[in-house]
Amino acid sequence: MLQNDTTKHQGMRRKLVSELNKKGITDEKVLNVINKVPRHLFLDSSFESHAYQNKAFPIGAEQTISHPYTVAFQSALLKVSPGHKVLEIGTGSGYQTAVLCELKAQVYSIERQHELFKTTKKLLPKLNYNPKQLIFGDGYKGLAAQAPFDSIIVTAGAPYVPKDLMAQLKIGGRLVIPVGADPQIMYLYVRKDAKTFTKEEFGEFRFVPLLESKN
Ligand code: SAH
Repeated sequence: MLQNDTTKHQGMRRKLVSELNKKGITDEKVLNVINKVPRHLFLDSSFESHAYQNKAFPIGAEQTISHPYTVAFQSALLKVSPGHKVLEIGTGSGYQTAVLCELKAQVYSIERQHELFKTTKKLLPKLNYNPKQLIFGDGYKGLAAQAPFDSIIVTAGAPYVPKDLMAQLKIGGRLVIPVGADPQIMYLYVRKDAKTFTKEEFGEFRFVPLLESKN
């Protein structure tokens, strides 16, 4: 167990899990994982006492860590099984990345902000989370070299669904993506065959924007 994860933090996590459950998150695997991942260690220490509230917080570079409810909701839609190859767009604090690692996925995650990329790349192994690859780059392009993926999760608000992400899904693969300007609508696309996707809608969420890349 991590030294700076105390019984107090664990108690706050249990409360958060019960709050998420009351709000409609019923996926046991996801709730167990939220109960395990020390969210306070992904935030600046000044937010430590608030880390288990269902709130977003600044993580630097004008970005925010997603609400725990949003992380749980998106994670449940992915239907991760152990060994699944999962691509995350928007590594940010690394909290969602850690949740995917705890779900035993092989995780690839892309971040376009260099500062965040550097900080999170150092942090994750310190907390014993070992994603397959953290990439500094443009999430719009996905990661063709490692495609196809069992699922892709976009953790920033996309103006449209990037074609490359659709193309990098396995048959049966799932893409979870918030689309639109503030607020976004959460969509789940499932690839039925080479050309056909089903699309389901899951209501309003608020994300920072998925930006065109600088590199
Ligand atoms: N999953 C993160 C959410 C962070 S907010 C977490 O749990 O903390 C969204 C992140 O997406 C930000 O870090 C932002 O820099 C990143 N982002 C925005 N546009 C991007 C793009 N085109 N490619 C990759 N990352 C992007």
